[in-house]
Amino acid sequence: MRSIHLEELTWPDVKAAMKDGVDTVVFAVGATEQHGPHLPLACDSLIGGSLAELTARRHEKALVAPTVRVGCSQHHMAFPGTMSINSPELQTVLLDYMETLFQHGFRRVVMIPSHGGNFATVAETARAARTKWPDKQIVAFTDLNRLLEVAFKMSAKFGISPGASGIHAGEFETSILLSTHPELVDMSRAEEGYTGEFTKIIPELLQHGVARVSPNGILGDARPSDGSRGKQYLSAWVDLIMAEIEQPQAAA
Ligand SMILES: [Zn+2]
Repeated sequence: MRSIHLEELTWPDVKAAMKDGVDTVVFAVGATEQHGPHLPLACDSLIGGSLAELTARRHEKALVAPTVRVGCSQHHMAFPGTMSINSPELQTVLLDYMETLFQHGFRRVVMIPSHGGNFATVAETARAARTKWPDKQIVAFTDLNRLLEVAFKMSAKFGISPGASGIHAGEFETSILLSTHPELVDMSRAEEGYTGEFTKIIPELLQHGVARVSPNGILGDARPSDGSRGKQYLSAWVDLIMAEIEQPQAAA
C-alpha cells in the first residue's frame, strides 16, 4: 500500500487494500481548543492523529480515516480561538463516518477520542452504533480514568507528579507534542497551571469552564516536559486501544 491514510489513496487503492484483507478503519476524535500559552489549538487532533496512525500500523490490516478536528470544547470557550460542536452533532458526524465506511464493506471501526470532552460522546455513540450495526465491530477506548491512571503511573516513574503530568496541556500532553510536532511547541511560554486534585474538579470544569480554575488554561505543569517521554506515553495509550480491539465484543 502506498499509504495507510485513506485520504492519500485513490479509490482503486482502497479497493485493492480491501481485497488484500484490510477490513478496519481507525480515526481520532480530536478538538480545536486552547492548550495553554505554549501549545497549538490542534494539540488533541495532532495527538489523535498520531494514536490513529500507530494503532493502524500495529493492527496491520487497517487504514486511517481523517481525524474529526472539532469536538466538544464548550468548557474552553473563554479562551480565544477555541471551536466547539455540541455532543448530538458530534454523534451524528461519527455515525455518518461509520455508515459510509461500512457501506464499502469495512468490518471494523476504531474510534479514538483524544480530547477528554469527547470521551462520553464517543462511548455513547459506540453503544448506539453496536445496536445499529450488530454484524460490525465498533471499538472505542473511552475509559478516561484508566488512561489517567496509566499516564500518571508512567510519569511517576520519570519523577513527575500527577499534578504536573496533568489532564490538559501539562507535562503529559506537552511531552507527546514535543516528540511528534516540536516545531509547534513554544517551551519558552510553558507554565505551571492548576496542579491540585483533578478528579473532584472535572464536573465543575465541564459545567463552568476551565478558566475558573486555571487562568492560563493549563491543568498540570508544562515546564518539566520532555519529548523523550512522549513516544512512551503514546505507546502506552496505543496498548490500551489495542487491548480494546482484541477484547471480544459483548453482544449489543
Ligand atoms: Zn489536550
